Amino acid sequence: MDEQIRRFSERELISRIRDLVGQKTSVDLIKGIGDDCAVFRHNERELWLITTDTLTESVHFEPAWHKPFLLGRKTASVNISDVAAMGGSPQFALLTMAVPDQCAADWLEDFLAGFTAVLQEYKVMLIGGDTVRSGRDTVFSVTIIGSVDKERILYRSCARPDDLIWVSGPLGEAAAGLEFCRRGFLTGQAERAAKWQRLIKAHLDPVPRVRLGRLIADSGRAHAMIDLSDGLATDLAHLCRESMVGAEVYADKLPLSKLLVEAAATLRMSALDLALKGGEDYQLLFTAPATAAEVLGRLAADCHNGTIYPIGRITAGGGVFLCREGAPRQDISYQGYDHFTGR
Ligand SMILES: [Mg+2]
Repeated sequence: MDEQIRRFSERELISRIRDLVGQKTSVDLIKGIGDDCAVFRHNERELWLITTDTLTESVHFEPAWHKPFLLGRKTASVNISDVAAMGGSPQFALLTMAVPDQCAADWLEDFLAGFTAVLQEYKVMLIGGDTVRSGRDTVFSVTIIGSVDKERILYRSCARPDDLIWVSGPLGEAAAGLEFCRRGFLTGQAERAAKWQRLIKAHLDPVPRVRLGRLIADSGRAHAMIDLSDGLATDLAHLCRESMVGAEVYADKLPLSKLLVEAAATLRMSALDLALKGGEDYQLLFTAPATAAEVLGRLAADCHNGTIYPIGRITAGGGVFLCREGAPRQDISYQGYDHFTGR
């Protein structure tokens, strides 16, 4: 089975599934496969958002450095982020756990404490799920149900040529944090890890931008939105494909923090690559006409003193291109993380 799947990229697999499913058959379904959440009719004013996501041991987390409380938090946060990506409010959750026999009861208890702590922060109620025994690895799968005003929902598929592209915060920090974890900075070298704490936290305990997502949607000024889970190069390519547009990303506009640049030098990696291809930032990426810049900037400032960063422009042609001064345009479409190829 594994070998079979490895022949496809994640995108190819989803595209095949989409072909098999065919056209929508329910009048209550607004959007099926192809966005951060599926969208259903709820009532006169609102739509339901439904999304599901899975975290697998050794693929999405390493128990050696991912302590159970933070892992529980992350399992909830990354799912909630998909509701934020459409401007919605998360409301209900279902949790499925596949746990091996050797899993300690207190490990699981700490996981659940972290998971429910995040649900409480966002006023999400756990309404069900399933617990099963697994052969070897631990797997968590979460479904989140949220709601959104039907006039305000933001899809991936509505970006327009000449929109500016913004992101809601610095990029590449979670990917750098992951790299420090991989290289053993958390095991027995606490003093070495101290300097990189913010980056490591970005990987271990990401924050879904629920309030900002809602403010951006409520402003009525943005055209399209997505959250950054698989890296800017891949997630922006998803948005462009669904919107049937292209994008130019300006390298000198990317928000690379001073700490990230220092980290990249220490890790002997490229800060630009971490920002473009590193996953799990869980920042929001959205597009809007340039005339919306002031309104959107003010919203972000009101929301936890945040800043939004214009990083590029939507174009009529396809593909995501990186523009660097003195260098030819470079196609970076889908160069982020792929779950099946592992690259
Ligand atoms: Mg998403």
